[in-house]
Amino acid sequence: MILKDAEFGEVLVRKNTFSRGIKFSISTSGRLQMSVPSYTTGFLAKRFLNQNRAMIREKLPLKDPSMQRARDAKKKLLAKKAKDYLPYRLDYYATKYGYDYSKLRLSHAGTRWGSCSSNRTISLNIGLMQVPEPLRDYVILHELAHLNHMDHSPAFWAEVAGHDPRYKSHRTKLKHFSPGV
Ligand SMILES: [Zn+2]
Repeated sequence: MILKDAEFGEVLVRKNTFSRGIKFSISTSGRLQMSVPSYTTGFLAKRFLNQNRAMIREKLPLKDPSMQRARDAKKKLLAKKAKDYLPYRLDYYATKYGYDYSKLRLSHAGTRWGSCSSNRTISLNIGLMQVPEPLRDYVILHELAHLNHMDHSPAFWAEVAGHDPRYKSHRTKLKHFSPGV
């Protein structure tokens, strides 16, 4: 659950069956997160947050909340860009090379640029909208090739190379970017 807070930006609320109290912490992306007992409703979570506002301000090394808000806004914009672009790009290559995927899921969490599941769903990270087009295309072609090879075997790489001859360089360059927003 995510709470939108005027002061702290998006606050991640994690429900934890074993937790008896509320715990505040800062996530790796600099976002405020609270761990709450599993019965906690959105209403209660908001109340906990309000009750602990002063303590959070004082005790947690929260980065500038206005930066957090800026990051949230950026993520929103990126998600919109991704939605307007990635489905068409994926479709373009799927049609061009005769791939049949079941659906596209846009993701934004985690550290992966993309994935392909055994039910033929392809996930692409919205952070792809921040990398140069050849690298973005490489990720798309990589995930499409997984529809035929669910591994990173030589046959898989040969298929990627068939559609993106410069894939090795694209793969290396991609390491300079991070999918997180
Ligand atoms: Zn892969």
